[in-house]
Amino acid sequence: MFRNAAAICLHLVGPLQGKKAGASAAQCLHQTLTMAKRLPARRLDGIDHNPWVEYSRLAAEYDVVNLGQGFPDFPPPDFAVEAFQQAVSGDFMLNQYTKAFGYPPLTKILASFFGKLLGQEIDPLTNVLVTVGAYGALFTTFQALVDEGDEVIIIEPFFDCYEPMTLMAGGRPVFVSLRPVRSPAEDGKLENSSNWRLDPEELASKFSPRTKVLILNTPNNPLGKGPQVYSRAELELVAGLCQQHDVVCVTDEVYQWLVFDGHQHISIASLPGMWERTLTIGSAGKTFSTTGWKVGWVLGPDHLMKHLRTVHQNSIYHCPTQAQAAVALNFEREQQHFGQPSSYFVQLPRTIQHCRDHMIRSLQSVGLRPVVPQGSYFLVTDISDFKKRMPNLPGAGDEPYDRCFVKWMIKNKGLAAIPVSVFFSAPQQKNFDHYIRFCFVKDEATLQAMDRRLQKWKEDLRP
Ligand code: PMP
Ligand code: GLN
Repeated sequence: MFRNAAAICLHLVGPLQGKKAGASAAQCLHQTLTMAKRLPARRLDGIDHNPWVEYSRLAAEYDVVNLGQGFPDFPPPDFAVEAFQQAVSGDFMLNQYTKAFGYPPLTKILASFFGKLLGQEIDPLTNVLVTVGAYGALFTTFQALVDEGDEVIIIEPFFDCYEPMTLMAGGRPVFVSLRPVRSPAEDGKLENSSNWRLDPEELASKFSPRTKVLILNTPNNPLGKGPQVYSRAELELVAGLCQQHDVVCVTDEVYQWLVFDGHQHISIASLPGMWERTLTIGSAGKTFSTTGWKVGWVLGPDHLMKHLRTVHQNSIYHCPTQAQAAVALNFEREQQHFGQPSSYFVQLPRTIQHCRDHMIRSLQSVGLRPVVPQGSYFLVTDISDFKKRMPNLPGAGDEPYDRCFVKWMIKNKGLAAIPVSVFFSAPQQKNFDHYIRFCFVKDEATLQAMDRRLQKWKEDLRP
């Protein structure tokens, strides 16, 4: 086919010689191909835009304090760096392939570590899959379970990739919103992410005979709705509906160690009857402040996991061995220190809680109204006052207000954040375009730089 098209082109540009003829033939070949067949696969329709690409690029163009994309800008703990060094300079066989579904010491420690937490006997060979980050875990899961026409219930606001991953698999996203419920007594106080609730009847109404998967994210990105929001009662509601309608629950728990104010994370897989229908996703990037390592995992029953292994063996096949070895050492260390003050899972949330509180105080000083998160490393903040005062920002009217606001803030205030409407389905975006998301997993120096920019902003606001 390609050879035929090239021959036609060469025939058409026949009289031309040398390089020029080659270039014209290439151009003509390109035109012939695009005319003859549709190049992008249909599964890419409508998903070419990506907010992380757009806003990270924009932030890089300006002199900003970057509080947008979620990554720590401080070093990982020493033990994690040493583990990676050991993996790189130790056994030379760690430079080679390992087992397709995970480096054995890693699958073994994940099985024993999470087995205790979930109250479940976990087999390293059949109940654990190591993936390229939690992104890889999500993609493998959607490809393995979602078929043409299957419905996937997505609770919004949601980590944005759930929608394109559903669509790419041929599924139909069905959205249900968390909504802020304010009691009059709370007026004047800061809102809390636990006040964003699911309406039980609305949630129940979203289940149909076509529902295959419900995806849960707790603690939630971008809201930080954590263990208190997704209280045991809320999780039981979701669990009950999944069981009643024979639906698989995919639970994205990448921020499970980032919970504040002494709360405890609850995994839905630990509720009665849920292990058999739940896939639990985690990320070493969030767990050990090493987002660049891109090690993630899925835990679940073999009857679901075997389909994920089919996708994995025919796509990635195998994840980088050294990064897996380092993560295995980190979990082995955490297993020994579990629950003690020396545990990173105890230290990290304490440190990050200070960052959260610092940011909350600072944002309030310019009239922003943060919603206090119980988990994750993000907070959303209400920009309604700005929307009223500055309704005509460039682009307002063409796109949701929060997107114009973030662009304006990057260019004029030197602060980068992420508009919250990117975490909503298209019909809801206008309803939630008065929030933006800040990331607070940042070094003290970054938070102080933020303070200086906010102080300057405050001075500009003076009449
Ligand atoms: N899920 C959520 C909710 C996230 O915020 C992220 C952040 N990247 C991911 C999954 C992907 O994690 P990873 O970096 O391990 O691919
Ligand atoms: N999960 C991170 C965030 O929400 C990073 C997402 C990304 O870069 N694609 O900021």
